[in-house]
Amino acid sequence: MKVLVYHKIHDKTQFEKQIKFLKRSYNIIDPTCLEDHLCHGKSLPENSLMITFDDGDSTLYKNAFPVLKRENIPAIIFVITNLIGTNEPFWWDELEYLLGEEEGNNKVWEVKTWPNKKRVQYLQELRSKSNKEQYKYPQLSIQELKEMQHANILIANHTHTHPMLDKCEEDELEEELFNSTEKLKERNFNYQYFAYPNGNYSERAEKKLVQHGIKYSFLFDHKINTGKLNPLRISRLKVNDNTPIWKLKFILSGWHSRVLPVTRTLGKLRR
Ligand SMILES: [Zn+2]
Repeated sequence: MKVLVYHKIHDKTQFEKQIKFLKRSYNIIDPTCLEDHLCHGKSLPENSLMITFDDGDSTLYKNAFPVLKRENIPAIIFVITNLIGTNEPFWWDELEYLLGEEEGNNKVWEVKTWPNKKRVQYLQELRSKSNKEQYKYPQLSIQELKEMQHANILIANHTHTHPMLDKCEEDELEEELFNSTEKLKERNFNYQYFAYPNGNYSERAEKKLVQHGIKYSFLFDHKINTGKLNPLRISRLKVNDNTPIWKLKFILSGWHSRVLPVTRTLGKLRR
């Protein structure tokens, strides 16, 4: 089984082309089909594919949802529960805004490797020192999420504040998972499907997920699932709305993830 992961969708036309191509070439399955396979031993259809979106960006309602609805395509949107219905930006976008694009972009990568408490503190300090106006970004509302939920889109768990789970201490892990599952339960969304922020998996985090009743979790490893599927470590392939169809085919073939480490190494050697 192959699982795609998107983030923002800006280009509706290109996204529609991709969806039409995927619909022609694959059996796009919904979570029930995955559960039938994992829990009841039913085999997955040939060429099965799942479509997922991380972070719950507001462009999804505007640009992805109309296409998915028209084409009757099931999907999963993993949301950051603390942001639902607010004007709060994603923390990495805010960091980029506060530092300026170039420095900010590099800093985001660095900060992701820090202990989570240090990251939170750093952002608070940046915010309080900055003379810039507070950065606002409209997030999806509960109503928009509900509307999508009614059209066969599962609204699922991407933590409460999007920390790197492998950089969290025990109390932070507990808080993240307690809050996100509670918020999702309250609103009748799905808390049992989970995607690791940034794909940062850890065994300790996995144990915590299980304690909080999470049954299916998704990585961000740019790999195809082969062999027996582990419901707590489902691989996903990264794609964008502007990925051309030829490249999408290449990614789906599995070759892209094999060639990628080589081209990255070559790139480093050249620099
Ligand atoms: Zn994310």
